[in-house]
Amino acid sequence: MSARPVLRFAPSPNGELHLGHAFSAMVGFDMAQHLGGRFLVRIEDIDTTRCREEYVTQIFEDLRWLGIEWEEPVRRQSEHFTTYSAASDWLLKLGLLYPCFATRSEISEATELNPHLTDPDGTPLYPGLHKNLPKEEVAVRLTRNEPFALRIHMDRALDALERITGARTVTFTELDGAGHPQHIEMNPADWGDAVIVRKDVPASYHLAVTVDDARQRVTHVTRGRDLYAATSLHRLLQAILGLPEPIYHHHRLLTDGQGNKLSKSARDTSLRSLREAGVDALQIRQRVGLASNETAANGT
Ligand code: GLU
Repeated sequence: MSARPVLRFAPSPNGELHLGHAFSAMVGFDMAQHLGGRFLVRIEDIDTTRCREEYVTQIFEDLRWLGIEWEEPVRRQSEHFTTYSAASDWLLKLGLLYPCFATRSEISEATELNPHLTDPDGTPLYPGLHKNLPKEEVAVRLTRNEPFALRIHMDRALDALERITGARTVTFTELDGAGHPQHIEMNPADWGDAVIVRKDVPASYHLAVTVDDARQRVTHVTRGRDLYAATSLHRLLQAILGLPEPIYHHHRLLTDGQGNKLSKSARDTSLRSLREAGVDALQIRQRVGLASNETAANGT
């Protein structure tokens, strides 16, 4: 069995990649090279209404232009819904998920009472609306084909975690910018009863990413700081589903001149427009801070 490290870049094809994605892909690719590991690209396209095929094609063009190489075949999440369902069925059997039929407006109305209680992304915490629906009511709603999400019963999930690991918090190893390991402890309860299976598709970002990283034997997850807090949920799911624990590196986020996060709609930093303007990969490395100006000037 190969013990080579496995790293991945996992973009969502719902817009054009920008400089921040170039940075993210290069950080992962460079670390894979440094570790003598393999590098994968995964297309995270569970959001079938927002993802577009033309963006998938562009992702490959952008990455090739950046000098990034990856192994084929590329995993596409939209082709693996049955795998995610198998994982959620297991969580359901363990009694750790429950159906939530509440609409967006019902939830936001209920959260108005406690708007300051938010998850790490700043979204108001789910107020438990359908947490204790009587079985009969669930059955009636199901026969009426009412759409539902599956939410994690956080208290019970933490009980399960405690039975497995002896603790109600999760831990993981985070490599800092210099590659030094740090021991991190986080509390998944900060997310409340998060959605594990969405209403519209039989998965969620959290479930799909956890299952896929394990399926693809990813040993080092490199991604932006914006997903740092989500790692507690991923570690919780890994522990309960019996999946291996990767090492993490959450890299800094690039910002525009005003200190704002780069967005997929900002044309000036889109990789396609930079590519079409004749910018080359070395200049991109320089712009994102992965190569010095001299390196770019010397072309070495
Ligand atoms: N698909 C996610 C994104 O584009 C990244 C997921 C991850 O790296 O864990 O933001």
